Amino acid sequence: QQPDHQAYYQLLNNAAEYYQQQLTKHSQAKLATDYLKSRGVTHAISQQYGLGFAPAGWNNLINALSSQQSNLTKLEEVGLVIHQTEKQSYYDRFRNRLMFPIRDQRGRVIAFGGRVFTDEKPKYLNSPETPVFQKSKELYGLYEAKQQNRQLSNLIVVEGYMDVIALAQHGITHAVATLGTSVTSDHVRKLFKQSNEIIFCFDGDEAGKKAAWRALENSFSSMEDGYSAKFLFLPQGEDPDSVIRSEGPKQFQQRLDNQSLTLTEYFFQQLEAQVNLHSLEGRAKLSKLASPYLSNLKPSTFKQLIENRLAELTGITPSNPNPSALSSQHSTP
Ligand code: ATP
Ligand code: MN
Ligand code: MN
Ligand code: MN
Repeated sequence: QQPDHQAYYQLLNNAAEYYQQQLTKHSQAKLATDYLKSRGVTHAISQQYGLGFAPAGWNNLINALSSQQSNLTKLEEVGLVIHQTEKQSYYDRFRNRLMFPIRDQRGRVIAFGGRVFTDEKPKYLNSPETPVFQKSKELYGLYEAKQQNRQLSNLIVVEGYMDVIALAQHGITHAVATLGTSVTSDHVRKLFKQSNEIIFCFDGDEAGKKAAWRALENSFSSMEDGYSAKFLFLPQGEDPDSVIRSEGPKQFQQRLDNQSLTLTEYFFQQLEAQVNLHSLEGRAKLSKLASPYLSNLKPSTFKQLIENRLAELTGITPSNPNPSALSSQHSTP
């Protein structure tokens, strides 16, 4: 860890405290508190996740945090202020937004997301990549999930901040979000360090379906015996936030329990949909489609079972049969 990082963490933490204070103190805070109320978020959950308010205006954070020029430069380096080089001037990145601090696993604030209160665009603004924030590795809500659960028997992976918060609001405190990026293999490795079971639950739209398949692709090679990855698909137009708010936690849990597909169910469903298993060509294509996924998989019972399933579907005995089993068959007198 570089020496500068300590100063970055300090500033990011101060910024989170500043935004949180504005949520209770600022003359315009009602914008944010009414918004939270409209989305069913209580004070307790707002505090648990450290939500805040970035007031309108160009210099609020700058005035609060940068008494010295050196701080201004650091604020820029952590993505909180933007430097206009031509004008030699600085301004706050986050203005008039509901603020979500993004914490690392140890609870240090490393970045922010900010949501507008209306239907302006962009709806969400996130910190850029900085020396302390790499989107492809971080999971929003992981620290809070660890805080709220002694053991994580599974982790639910959703798309958005509000999905994590709505689930927590209804007692499901083990959800994390990728931050508008697709699930990477770094994410999957991090998730499996915390729990043996991951359940991906993305939005019920085309983007959500694409994200699920990307998640499968980037989970495949991390699968080991004892691990489980599942996929819950939501009705068209819904996301975890809308579903739990309309159906409640019991129904949501029932969906998780009864409607999730295992990774292999989803995998074969998607591959089989692309081929005609009644034709020899289709069965050959199935084998070709599956092969890159299998070649990335470490030898395991899991891998063997997938190979067996492929063999059933194509009608071919596995190409790499267990030699001892074969020889014992043939050497029996
Ligand atoms: P809400 O329920 O607050 O309207 P959402 O979380 O359902 O929002 P989606 O459009 O489904 O929003 O996006 C999922 C996630 O993707 C967001 O929570 C955010 O992290 C990220 N995201 C969405 N839009 C943007 C954007 N314009 N820029 C950056 N990230 C975004
Ligand atoms: Mn979406
Ligand atoms: Mn959504
Ligand atoms: Mn939503």
